[in-house]
Amino acid sequence: MPRFEYAPAPESRSIVDIRSSYGLFINGSFVDPADGGSRKTVNPATEEVLAEVAEAGESDVDSAVRAARRAYDEVWGPMRGADRAKYLYRLARLIQERARELAVLESIDNGKPIRESRDVDIPLVAAHFFYYAGWADKLRHAGFGPDPRPIGVAGQVIPWNFPLLMLAWKIAPALAGGNTVVLKPAETTPLTALAFAEVCQQADLPPGVVNIVTGGGETGRLLVEHPGIDKVAFTGSTEVGRAIAKSVAGTTKRLTLELGGKAANIIFDDAPVDQAVEGIVNGIFFNQGHVCCAGSRLLVQESIVDDVLARLRDRMAQLRVGDPLDKNTDVGAINSAAQLERIRELSAAGEAEGADRWSPPCVLPDRGYWFAPTLFTGVSQAHRIAREEIFGPVLSVLTFRTPAEAIEKANNTPYGLSAGVWTEKGSRILDVAAKLRAGVVWANTFNKFDPTSPFGGYKESGYGREGGRHGLEAYLAH
Ligand code: NDP
Repeated sequence: MPRFEYAPAPESRSIVDIRSSYGLFINGSFVDPADGGSRKTVNPATEEVLAEVAEAGESDVDSAVRAARRAYDEVWGPMRGADRAKYLYRLARLIQERARELAVLESIDNGKPIRESRDVDIPLVAAHFFYYAGWADKLRHAGFGPDPRPIGVAGQVIPWNFPLLMLAWKIAPALAGGNTVVLKPAETTPLTALAFAEVCQQADLPPGVVNIVTGGGETGRLLVEHPGIDKVAFTGSTEVGRAIAKSVAGTTKRLTLELGGKAANIIFDDAPVDQAVEGIVNGIFFNQGHVCCAGSRLLVQESIVDDVLARLRDRMAQLRVGDPLDKNTDVGAINSAAQLERIRELSAAGEAEGADRWSPPCVLPDRGYWFAPTLFTGVSQAHRIAREEIFGPVLSVLTFRTPAEAIEKANNTPYGLSAGVWTEKGSRILDVAAKLRAGVVWANTFNKFDPTSPFGGYKESGYGREGGRHGLEAYLAH
């Protein structure tokens, strides 16, 4: 397949104005931490320091929770749903107005290609606020009883893979339901959450309704263990999710967990192969594979495996790895040195355990954190690369002969977040989807998201649903 060269098409970063340092956003203002410190956030594509960001300590988290409680008791809880909706619509419109700036900021802080932050992340962020704004005055019709009430103050901890989108998944339904929030972004990607704090100021959101406490895992722990929190919502690793579940056990706090995944993407012999190859690429190389629902285990019917792999290798050779701000880039930078190390370690384990490793020729930039798109064949179910979440651009390929074998292998994982099925037979899609233990099953597509659609997992992928009408339930007492 010929490789077409493109001239560089860099998005200008002049639209973003990154301050040299950021405080905590508590009770409607940016404040210096009382007992915390600060951390640097870097651009993972260049290792350039972007800003010094405050780290909230115990008394800072306490101030944020108290501010959220006051706002809940005095303003946001008693407010009519229709009035809350006006604020949510205002937030949504401001996000749309500032979309380009937020997309550039997200790509700089996270390393993801601008094409994705511009066309996927930020439009979905606005869509979530629009969608939940619509529910704010209709909660009685959501199917949760005649008079659903808010829960109170929500403590929310989010990861670094979709920083602003995860914020929207958490904050929009919470506010629509009449709750107030204290949110901790991931330490490597705090900048768009802090920009969102400015958006809250611009929208004249009452002080204390949204509080953003930046910091590391310790700040997250302080938040979820704070006795003034009524509800904890967490997205991240299964390991930290488990620790949070333990700390919340025995309290009256409500908990939703959205954890890891090891999704099977199943290609049957009657699948439209070219479309399937696009779906495979989108399933594992979108966002550098830093996706909890990534199609990281490819299950291909044995009779077509040679054809699928040949076309997949050709397609992978077309992927452009490099500058996240270049509009031609398909695969950006790995989010942190620690994550790069984890991907390297698991990929080395794949080779050591006997799988065959392949990457297309690709020149990686000298500075920053990079990993070439990688394909492992000859993978067995016992290999670590078939069992553990790699959270990087690494695909493990397994084969099957019958639908029953495909289902058994797909379900042979401690996770259960998502799956994909590729076949031209509608009856087979329905049959296989019903037998897969996965919260989301995509048919002849992959990694499609919509605010109206619930998302969440089985088994070690966590519990509770985010998105759609179901996503409201986690923030309503009924
Ligand atoms: P973590 O689960 O550690 O991070 C998720 C969030 O939780 C971050 O905001 C983190 O803060 C915070 N946190 C960490 N420790 C605690 C704690 N004890 N109490 C409360 N909050 C805490 O994920 P990592 O970033 O360490 O990534 C490790 C692996 O997890 C990845 O390689 C990947 O496999 C998986 N992962 C899965 C995600 C998913 O969506 N399923 C998302 C992210 C990671 P801080 O950032 O400051 O550490």
